[in-house]
Amino acid sequence: MAVHDKRYVIIGNGVAGTTAAETLRKNDPNCSIHLITNEPYPLYNRVSLPRFLQGVLAEQKVMIRNFTWHEQRNIHLLIETLVTRVDTDERVVVTDKGEHFPYDALLIANGGWANPLRVSGAKDVKHVYNFVTLDDAKTIIARMLESRTALAYGGSFISYEMCDGFAVRKLDTTWLMRGPYWLRNVLDPEGGEVVDAIAKKFGVEVVHGDEVAEIVAKNGVPSYVKTAKGRQIQADVIGIGLGIRLNTRILAGTAIEVRNGVVVNEYLETNVAGVYAAGDIAEFFDVAIGHHHTMGTWDNAMGHGRIAGANMGGDHQPYHDVPTYTSPLFDVNIAVIGTARSDSPELESIARREPGEKGNENYRKLFFRENKLVGALMIGSPKGRKKLVDIVKNQQVFASAAEREALLGLR
Ligand SMILES: Cc1cc2nc3c(=O)[nH]c(=O)nc-3n(C[C@H](O)[C@H](O)[C@H](O)COP(=O)(O)OP(=O)(O)OC[C@H]3O[C@@H](n4cnc5c(N)ncnc54)[C@H](O)[C@@H]3O)c2cc1C
Repeated sequence: MAVHDKRYVIIGNGVAGTTAAETLRKNDPNCSIHLITNEPYPLYNRVSLPRFLQGVLAEQKVMIRNFTWHEQRNIHLLIETLVTRVDTDERVVVTDKGEHFPYDALLIANGGWANPLRVSGAKDVKHVYNFVTLDDAKTIIARMLESRTALAYGGSFISYEMCDGFAVRKLDTTWLMRGPYWLRNVLDPEGGEVVDAIAKKFGVEVVHGDEVAEIVAKNGVPSYVKTAKGRQIQADVIGIGLGIRLNTRILAGTAIEVRNGVVVNEYLETNVAGVYAAGDIAEFFDVAIGHHHTMGTWDNAMGHGRIAGANMGGDHQPYHDVPTYTSPLFDVNIAVIGTARSDSPELESIARREPGEKGNENYRKLFFRENKLVGALMIGSPKGRKKLVDIVKNQQVFASAAEREALLGLR
């Protein structure tokens, strides 16, 4: 029987897919690698998009890879190509251009797409935007330059990134969310107040517990938004951050197990041999907390890409990492470490709020499982962050309440 070089297909060229391709090439100079994306760009830094939106970062600083990088490594990057179907019996990936790519191992790394706003008037009006891609950012910037008022809608990370962008560009900005405070699955009312105070300092009007009911348009562009509680909010541009839906639809009809994301074990392999998932779309078995979950952070996606690439090439490494996330939040920082979720019943949490710098407050919340620190969220001063990351990594036990409380003051 003829032996061919191994064929790898990767769906999605975000940080998970591109890192996996790089790892595969390092480990095997002869294999064939097809990296497929519907976007028109090589890998760029999504984490940098908010600063690009604010106008403090140029487009070339957002780009991480170029086409030459792929050519030099003989990685076939197919841009503007949508994968429409996966056939795990025939071991083939099908695209919207009718091409068929056979594989020996497949990586699903195609992330998620933002949920649209489904209210009266939203479909027929221009300038209602999600914020996920570089092209989204370019379109929003063009509209911001001709706008005076803006609405950021939602209680997610993405909604505050847009709110921050609108406020920094001096638009008259309202931030509207359905929940009682921002990030309601992570924070508590105290943490919510800290964030509100920072946003208000930047002139943002923050509205909780209400939702968009209708967009009222004039000549096809938004004039104002009507809310369920009867408010009228002026908005020339509307940014939507209502969470993402993971792109699992292309797996319909396969035996690959899908729950919220694509279910994989700690080796990032699905229940179908030779098929792996990585990054935002992977619902992975996290050895640090002992169950499956998804995680939408850059470090996690990059770490997944590295491990999935190694394992597709024949290795057998578990993914065991403590992903961290840091981002500017108006004029302070927000940092998330490991698993920080108030809606996980098996996690206990403690929090502290205290005066910080620049007239802001610091807020710190720590999450424990069986007396081990598994996650943290810090708003304001990031002092002590590295120590907390090490503690999560080392799985140190903090048996008494006093020991756990002491971590709130760690610098
Ligand atoms: C505005 C913004 C700010 C963020 N800020 C931070 C931050 O500060 N810190 C942090 O840790 N994380 C941040 N994140 C999250 C982080 O960027 C993601 O967790 C990470 O990029 C996920 O990488 P990925 O490779 O899994 O997927 P993605 O980067 O989503 O890449 C998936 C790719 O697959 C493509 N694709 C989807 N379906 C198909 C298909 N059928 N066929 C072909 N291609 C397809 C998509 O278009 C996309 O290009 C931010 C995200 C956004 C949008």
